[in-house]
Amino acid sequence: MERTFAMIKPDGVRRGLTPEILKRIQQKGYRIVGLKQMLIPREVAENHYGEHRERPFFGELVDFITGGPVVAIALEGENAITGWRAMMGATNPANAVPGTIRADFATTTGENVTHGSDSPESAARELGLFFAEGELL
Ligand code: ATP
Ligand code: MG
Repeated sequence: MERTFAMIKPDGVRRGLTPEILKRIQQKGYRIVGLKQMLIPREVAENHYGEHRERPFFGELVDFITGGPVVAIALEGENAITGWRAMMGATNPANAVPGTIRADFATTTGENVTHGSDSPESAARELGLFFAEGELL
């Protein structure tokens, strides 16, 4: 059984999409093993998105992700890493397939509602950044 880190970004929380997204996760059959609404400290955001540090949008991305509460989610299920990424859809909502979260609820790459780890390594790293060992069921 695989675990991944999912997040509802500040735009999703602000727009009241939390129940809809949690519903989709549960309908899919993933087990929610960790769940909390929180403000991300700036250092955690810079670490989380560290791979993008040199990109021109990095500052904007960190401002956005720290700019309001997010919902941090630890998911467990068969192939949860790629499965959750598939449910989210393409990074740019314009390229996302209808029925995916980003196609259904987002219009811009900058504010695309959800995050999902992209590999087993990033899942382990990101789960460790957002959850203490004892917080996960
Ligand atoms: P995430 O890591 O948030 O799940 P992703 O893996 O689909 O998204 P990444 O390439 O890791 O996409 O980019 C991380 C985030 O940075 C994107 O979700 C988006 O919010 C932002 N981002 C990526 N590319 C751009 C861009 N060209 N302009 C503005 N923001 C961008
Ligand atoms: Mg990514």
